[in-house]
Amino acid sequence: MTPHNLKDWTRARLRDWFSEHNERPFRADQVFTWLYQKNVSDWDGMSNLAKSTRQLLIDNFHLPRLTRVAERVSQDDSRKYLLGLQDGKTIETVLMPHHDHHTVCVSSQVGCAMGCSFCVTGKMGLIRNLSAGEIVEQVVEARRDATGLPLRNIVFMGMGEPFHNYDQVMTALEILTDEYGFNFSQRRVTVSTSGLVPQIRRFGQERVKANLAISLNGSSDTVRGRLMPVNKRYNLAQLVQVCQEFPLEARKRITFEYILLKGITDSIDDAKSLIRLLHGVKFKINLIPFNAAPDSEYQRSDWEQIQRFQRYLLDRGVVATLRISKGQDIQGACGQLRSEQGLAVEEEVG
Ligand code: SF4
Repeated sequence: MTPHNLKDWTRARLRDWFSEHNERPFRADQVFTWLYQKNVSDWDGMSNLAKSTRQLLIDNFHLPRLTRVAERVSQDDSRKYLLGLQDGKTIETVLMPHHDHHTVCVSSQVGCAMGCSFCVTGKMGLIRNLSAGEIVEQVVEARRDATGLPLRNIVFMGMGEPFHNYDQVMTALEILTDEYGFNFSQRRVTVSTSGLVPQIRRFGQERVKANLAISLNGSSDTVRGRLMPVNKRYNLAQLVQVCQEFPLEARKRITFEYILLKGITDSIDDAKSLIRLLHGVKFKINLIPFNAAPDSEYQRSDWEQIQRFQRYLLDRGVVATLRISKGQDIQGACGQLRSEQGLAVEEEVG
């Protein structure tokens, strides 16, 4: 029998498994603490487990690690990792320092099927889904470098559409927020989707209440449809309706990410229709100045226009933040992740 990747399993599943194998379920709590809180990466390090328990685990599970194929450090100290999976494929993960904490941006798929025209990952197409363990392991890997400041936030904004790999992402969320796992606050975890309406509805019913972000990028079906093919399947009326109905806890809002593309999404008319569109939704807007990749057909908006756009929203009572992208010089910013050896060969580490 092929051993299971233990990191694909939730603690509840492991507790059941221990029971079925005549072991006390709390062994699962101990294993989780070793793996995710004490950063132990082999069985021998789990010193409070009996030898027989360890042998049972060795016979049935393995603990694969991701390999660091390459790493780049940005001028702002963001780090982009090219991480190798067991089958030789690679993904990217970004660790970003802020004034009092770190944020890690994780991938959920190798490549992406959604084909957004401004996104370099979209150009790869979908290669495969990541398992929950491969998602979780990105956080383990990034945490090794998050020294000085705690790693407090996780965003699912790397490669892939998280809701296109729904079950594995939900399992990863459970492990990441488990009190015996990483114990991240649910308020500190954000899942970003391109707008898969049925999965947004389902996400609203999940036990783990992570934040929802939606990559919007257009305030009309014409513009959004041009940028994001998903809009042809779920148009803006359907997207806004599911957001209006989304169950939100007190003081929570849905974040809409809005990329400012010169001459396409950045006019004051666009800002007006954005406000009209989101009427009835509890929301905030995260404006993202576009990071032009070398071969992109789009351009970044002028700085004055970016400020004008934000000012227009703020003056009308809309919460609108401007994301100053981290790691721009290492192609680690939004929409720039692409797992390609050639992108990251300068600083080989493994
Ligand atoms: S923006 Fe997100 S959903 Fe769209 S192609 Fe890129 S990774 Fe996929």
